[in-house]
Amino acid sequence: MSSGMSSIRPVSWNRYPTTRPRRLVSCCDRQRMALPAGSESCLVFGNGRSYGDVCLNDGGALLLARGLDRFMAFDPATGVLQAEAGVLLADILALAVPQGWFLTVTPGTQFVTLGGAIANDVHGKNHHMAGSFGCHVRAFELLRSDGQRLRCTPEQNTEWFRATVGGLGLTGLITWVEIQLQRIANPWIVAENRRFAHLDDFLTLDREYEDRYPYIVSWVDCAATGRALGRGIYMAGMHAPPGLMKPPPKERRALTVPFAPPVSLVNNLSVGAFNRLYYHLPRPARGLTPYQPFFYPLDKLLEWNRLYGRRGFFQYQCVIPPAVAGESLREILARIAASGQGSMLAVLKRFGARTSGGLLSFPRPGVTLALDFPNQGHRTLALLESLDEVTRQAGGAVYPAKDARMSGDSFRHYYPQWAEFSRYIDPRFSSSFWRRVMRD
Ligand SMILES: Cc1cc2nc3c(=O)[nH]c(=O)nc-3n(C[C@H](O)[C@H](O)[C@H](O)COP(=O)(O)OP(=O)(O)OC[C@H]3O[C@@H](n4cnc5c(N)ncnc54)[C@H](O)[C@@H]3O)c2cc1C
Repeated sequence: MSSGMSSIRPVSWNRYPTTRPRRLVSCCDRQRMALPAGSESCLVFGNGRSYGDVCLNDGGALLLARGLDRFMAFDPATGVLQAEAGVLLADILALAVPQGWFLTVTPGTQFVTLGGAIANDVHGKNHHMAGSFGCHVRAFELLRSDGQRLRCTPEQNTEWFRATVGGLGLTGLITWVEIQLQRIANPWIVAENRRFAHLDDFLTLDREYEDRYPYIVSWVDCAATGRALGRGIYMAGMHAPPGLMKPPPKERRALTVPFAPPVSLVNNLSVGAFNRLYYHLPRPARGLTPYQPFFYPLDKLLEWNRLYGRRGFFQYQCVIPPAVAGESLREILARIAASGQGSMLAVLKRFGARTSGGLLSFPRPGVTLALDFPNQGHRTLALLESLDEVTRQAGGAVYPAKDARMSGDSFRHYYPQWAEFSRYIDPRFSSSFWRRVMRD
């Protein structure tokens, strides 16, 4: 591990909170990998695609993992891939898709490292069938601050495997990872779009589609009220069968938002107008689409997080158990609409019963809702606290990877396994998130 500043800016994706790590240390010397000398706390920083402070370590050292960027092995006969933990999912797709393989689980951006995908046990549009990322991890190496290197698999060092999958980066440094990919016939997706008029309509559609499509996600109009509360667009997809494909689409360069304006461009007016337009936009009921816009629509606009201005934004993602999903989500959406806050990026999806066994993993059976809120200070914090009231009462949980403000009391309520998990935290490791939720 070599010391020194990197060009990476250690901020999280929502640009809140701002923190000052005491040192940045890049992990790239594979021969002599050891944690920096001294007593300050350490945390690994992947690619900063978390929203909030799970990847931040105010006043401590941040170990920059992107230097661990080598592929180690790939077997095109079995789809087993081994790579260092700083490799991005985008790099894996570039290698695997032309050879007929795809990630078994992918989040909504491909700019995530393998280490980050494990530490948050990320989920994708296929959770109802495939579970979370951790379900497809065959092995990884965990480097502890005492120099121990633990090879962890679901059968070997099982307790370390369970603590590290979804372990928020607190159990040590993941150096390399081995995952199982899934076979695909070609890079195309057969996609279907349906409009739903309100939340009950979504739940009915979901029952109809959940066994037929491996990938399902819905956009929800969080500004709609009354009878239209919870209306949206239902999007389902599957990998295209052999022979069903088109000529490759023309490569278009991604656009970049060049700077963060002083105030958020996402506001009450823009959200209402955009949502009305987006809901009514004509779209094909069924069609063939390349995998990139289907899985990663936001990756086409680089640095889109800057649109929220210099104060940044909050993301709120909760999961509500199936039995009370309808009534609780209606209450959450009603509170958001009444507050006049919320954004165009509101996503609804069902989680299935398959879990990875990660001690602190977020996904659990139920319906998950995720959406962004421009940071309007106290007003936004008060709204999010009131959404927590509903989530807690429903027996749900909030996703730490998307959190910068939940109270310690709420965290411990959502994750009663936290005390058992604490036994596996590396004594040198800590994060701004962990100190926050353990403080109050
Ligand atoms: C546009 C967008 C869409 C998204 N969609 C989804 C989604 O659909 N589903 C979902 O689950 N998430 C989603 N996310 C969140 C994202 O997938 C997670 O936050 C992911 O963990 C970020 O990975 P990262 O490599 O950027 O890690 P960071 O954000 O830098 O770090 C995340 C955590 O991983 C730890 N970590 C990173 N590398 C290592 C390592 N080598 N060893 C030990 N610990 C490590 C860090 O300490 C930290 O706790 C989305 C994010 C964005 C920006």
